[in-house]
Amino acid sequence: MAATVERTESGYVGVTADAEWAAEIRRLADERDAVLLAHNYQLPEIQDVADHTGDSLALSRIAAASSAATIVFCGVHFMAETAKILGPDKTVLIPDERAGCSLADSIDAEQLRSWKAEHPGAVVVSYVNTTAEVKAETDICCTSSNAVDVVRSIPAEREVLFCPDQFLGAHVRRETGRENLHVWAGECHVHAGINGPELTERAEANPEADLFIHPECGCATSALYLAGDGTLPEERVKILSTGGMLDAARSTGASSVLVATEVGMLHQLRSAAPEIDFRAVNERASCRYMKMITPAALLRCLREGADEVDVPAEVAERARASVERMVSIGRPGGGE
Ligand code: SF4
Repeated sequence: MAATVERTESGYVGVTADAEWAAEIRRLADERDAVLLAHNYQLPEIQDVADHTGDSLALSRIAAASSAATIVFCGVHFMAETAKILGPDKTVLIPDERAGCSLADSIDAEQLRSWKAEHPGAVVVSYVNTTAEVKAETDICCTSSNAVDVVRSIPAEREVLFCPDQFLGAHVRRETGRENLHVWAGECHVHAGINGPELTERAEANPEADLFIHPECGCATSALYLAGDGTLPEERVKILSTGGMLDAARSTGASSVLVATEVGMLHQLRSAAPEIDFRAVNERASCRYMKMITPAALLRCLREGADEVDVPAEVAERARASVERMVSIGRPGGGE
């Protein structure tokens, strides 16, 4: 395949995702002994060419269990880091290392260390959308599915520092009634596209529609909060992991479903249940970082073996402990 990949500010371009491209991707993946993992919010053509599609935690587990020498993680940087933390002996590649996450960027290790110094003895709970260095400073990681269980597992008299997502933190505080839970004021830029009034308005305008809220990735935690406080009609609101959302798509009696999450999820839902009218609560809820994993970026990645993601062994070891505690508490959720 002769396509020339061009690097631009917003990502790699210059390649059409046609059958020739897909065949070349598969050929190069075999040559590298690579398994291709695609997050649910990836472009449809990336999802279709991958070996596995799922949420970050499910994909990290697949990565760790895989016999492939190389993991190509089509997602954002912290997800590839988590795959490296759980599978330190593997080569982990991300097609464009500039694919960050505004939520993960809302706290760094230095800020967390300062916050911990203000609350000596507090237990740190971090959402999985954090850098490896922040995970290394964390006692227990959590997903939005098990955040409440994780906080409940901590003795009531201990202070808790919860970061970085303020919506998920507010949800956990309300559910646990815990006043000694301090919440970091971080958020994801995609949250802004799924705001409360808009969500309520769409639900009212579509009274027959179910509302699927995907709690992973941080994209729908504001919706999670609104559903929990009764702003949205409880019987129509389904807070579901990726796997649960796909199962619900196949079994729901509703003819239309509003989906409150990043728009990439619509591709899988429409494939699973073509007879249902799936609509995004907000079409603009698209993560520009996720969309940096273009067909051109994936081709370059497999051709050049770049960009490689590494996590220093000492950081990885401490981060792994907090991730493993997460997996052992409650139902961490995900698309498994
Ligand atoms: S949608 Fe938000 S939380 Fe998810 S990867 Fe993008 S910036 Fe991060």
